[in-house]
Amino acid sequence: MHEPRAAEKDTPYWWEASPLKPLPQQTVPKKLDVLIVGAGYAGLSAGLVLAREGRSVAAFDAMNPGEGASTRNGGITSGTIRPDYATITRRFGEEKAQAIEAEGKIAREFLYDFIKTEGLACDFQLVGQFKGAFGYEQYETMARSAETLAKRLRIESYAVPYAEQRSYTGTDVYRGGTVRLDIGGLHPAKFHAELLRVALASGVAVHARTPVISIERDGSGFGVVTSAGSVQARQVLVCTNGYTDGAVPFLRRRLVPVRSRIIATEELAPDVMARLMPKRMMMTENRQVGFYYRPSPDGTRILLGGRDSSRVGNPVAPKLMLRKGLANLFPELESVRLSHSWFGNVAMNRDMLPRIFEKDGVVYASGFCGSGVVWAPWIGMHAAHKLMGNHERARTAFDFRPPASIPLYRGDPWFMPAMIWGYRMQDRFALWRDRR
Ligand SMILES: Cc1cc2nc3c(=O)[nH]c(=O)nc-3n(C[C@H](O)[C@H](O)[C@H](O)COP(=O)(O)OP(=O)(O)OC[C@H]3O[C@@H](n4cnc5c(N)ncnc54)[C@H](O)[C@@H]3O)c2cc1C
Repeated sequence: MHEPRAAEKDTPYWWEASPLKPLPQQTVPKKLDVLIVGAGYAGLSAGLVLAREGRSVAAFDAMNPGEGASTRNGGITSGTIRPDYATITRRFGEEKAQAIEAEGKIAREFLYDFIKTEGLACDFQLVGQFKGAFGYEQYETMARSAETLAKRLRIESYAVPYAEQRSYTGTDVYRGGTVRLDIGGLHPAKFHAELLRVALASGVAVHARTPVISIERDGSGFGVVTSAGSVQARQVLVCTNGYTDGAVPFLRRRLVPVRSRIIATEELAPDVMARLMPKRMMMTENRQVGFYYRPSPDGTRILLGGRDSSRVGNPVAPKLMLRKGLANLFPELESVRLSHSWFGNVAMNRDMLPRIFEKDGVVYASGFCGSGVVWAPWIGMHAAHKLMGNHERARTAFDFRPPASIPLYRGDPWFMPAMIWGYRMQDRFALWRDRR
């Protein structure tokens, strides 16, 4: 195994074609209809809707807009809901489970339509997604789920047996898999840059590198202190997701930031790409702590991501773990050079469901659990309608109670490395049982 080389960049591959836009500092307004905290996909999508409906709206971001997860992600339009149908039914009832499942399909279609109608140049390709099974029993269960998905939601999905797997992937690690054709990939930083472009053009004021420090009730509105001055806002929307800090303590106790890391290979020869990723699909695995990977939008390299159990600094071990994972999938890439390796925070909550909720008059849109490419624009858009009192257009299955707080947790996820280790053990046990 090669040591990572100094030439590798620790910044997202995506920033090469779409660097962060350092917006000029601007004067903070005295009054606003709506103040949004966070200018990622969720904050900008909400701002766009509000500005087009004539509200004075500003989004404040502690970093450059997009510097959170929205320009660091894998760009896979999965719209995944982590808990399975049976678990959601047990917790919230059959009706809610059906509504949540159905909304995934609508949210994905909304995103594709939004990209098209707004003319967002973000390299979106509806190529489909392959999910690999690690054992034949697992494959059988997944094949049944693909059938159910096709029947219940009319989503084009089917099983791929081991014997046919090679026409989908160059790895032999899986024992077959399933395909969904309603999932694709986009260039996440271009998508964010384009969203920023239309938001600014619609009248959203975006304050870069201007953290919100506190939010207090003030009469019928809110007094918001930012690093550049105070604002009176009639309404406040919090879209800070995996980067939530002490300015919003209520959310901080309920969302766990978890690092996710991606490595990008250097350019690979066209025949290698054709062998390893023959259909250029988005790729995922059926395990708790699996890898997700995809070709770059130009089809010249592979980007592979997974959980990073580090919590501080930028240690080498998680990068090596992904490198090892890549070599395990594709042994011919064992000594490939990596051009980039970076991480960002995803936000998990206890029931693993994204949501809109309101607490003490402040509206929150968060908890995207690593699937915010679809969910953040969708939930952001609905949060905007909720703020405007457009009840019909605000209707979503994801508008419900705040996530539960996490015992002994105040914002430092000290337990995460142990939890990820536990999940890996469960994966190993499942694999052992299936292959015995
Ligand atoms: C490595 C990685 C891979 C991923 N891959 C995928 C994928 O393939 N598909 C998918 O669907 N999802 C993926 N995700 C998840 C997806 O990127 C996120 O769910 C989505 O970007 C969330 O958008 P957001 O607007 O809610 O939050 P973010 O984009 O994270 O924005 C939150 C913003 O809030 C700001 N903020 C925080 N506190 C304050 C404050 N006090 N004042 C002002 N601003 C503040 C931050 O600076 C930040 O910019 C991935 C995430 C990561 C990190």
